Amino acid sequence: AAKEAGRATYQFFTPELNRRASDRMWTENNLRRALANNELELHFQPQFSLDGRRLIGAEALVRWRQPDGTLIMPGQFIPVAEDTGLILPLGDWVLGEACRRAAELLRHQDLMIAINLSAVQVRRPGLAERVAGWLSAYGIPPSALELEVTESVLMDDSDVVSETFSQLREMGVPLAIDDFGTGYSSLAYLKRFRVDKLKIDRSFVSGLRAGNPDSGAIAEAIIGMARSLRMQTLAEGVETEEQYHCLATMGCDQCQGYLLGRPMPYEDFLAFVRRDAGTPQPQLAEVVE
Ligand code: C2E
Ligand code: MG
Ligand code: MG
Ligand code: MG
Repeated sequence: AAKEAGRATYQFFTPELNRRASDRMWTENNLRRALANNELELHFQPQFSLDGRRLIGAEALVRWRQPDGTLIMPGQFIPVAEDTGLILPLGDWVLGEACRRAAELLRHQDLMIAINLSAVQVRRPGLAERVAGWLSAYGIPPSALELEVTESVLMDDSDVVSETFSQLREMGVPLAIDDFGTGYSSLAYLKRFRVDKLKIDRSFVSGLRAGNPDSGAIAEAIIGMARSLRMQTLAEGVETEEQYHCLATMGCDQCQGYLLGRPMPYEDFLAFVRRDAGTPQPQLAEVVE
């Protein structure tokens, strides 16, 4: 048995797992400093109406800029931030920074900024007050924001979560469900809170083929259901004209994806907005990451 255990232990610490464990430790040790030293930044990915390709807003996506200039993507530090509680100060920074940028952008064009919320943030009392505080600090209307949560948050039946969603609703802050279709939630949960938009997960968009109705069966079902529940739909991860065309045919409302613009630093997005103002066709964004 000792031999077995010894072998199991040995197998557990593969070089790969060792590397991941030390990456995690490195991330945890440095993230606190990153917050204090202002090493986080928001990039913005443009969002468009499907019919007419009008720029309607952007999703704010956090990045961690190392002192040497290297960018660390959120997949590498958001899970660690959630496990350590650092997501609370980090999430609050994202909210404040997104509102600050929204206030600047609103001087140029009527746009909406979508912000990702972690379940940890929503489960903690006081989120609606934090949002209200940032809105008034930067003097922007609640409709200039959109808060994105995943399906699992809807299924949380705690009083804190339902209280927070009803406060946000009263304030008039729109709510979107991110990565919709991947979370195993019961559709009944969509009726518990007012949901304004379903973001169709990229996995249901990537396979879309013109002339192959099966390829769009799930996207089409989501769009149909959203319409009967009076919710909007936004397709994520649109990379080709063919996908765009299929979604337009299905009556999807909005989209974002590499086809129309990558996430980009604020200054680049501002230039993008200025170019867009008055022009119906958006330019392709430069590849920045
Ligand atoms: P998400 O909210 O679903 O964001 C969409 C992700 O898809 C982004 O990755 C974006 O860069 C990527 N993407 C956009 N268009 C395309 C496309 O056409 N093709 C492909 N292959 N990918 C595309 P990113 O920026 O690495 O963010 C990953 C995830 O990290 C986000 O997924 C979100 O869950 C989380 N995240 C990002 N920023 C924040 C934040 O401020 N707070 C929280 N709590 N989570 C965040
Ligand atoms: Mg999102
Ligand atoms: Mg998503
Ligand atoms: Mg996602």
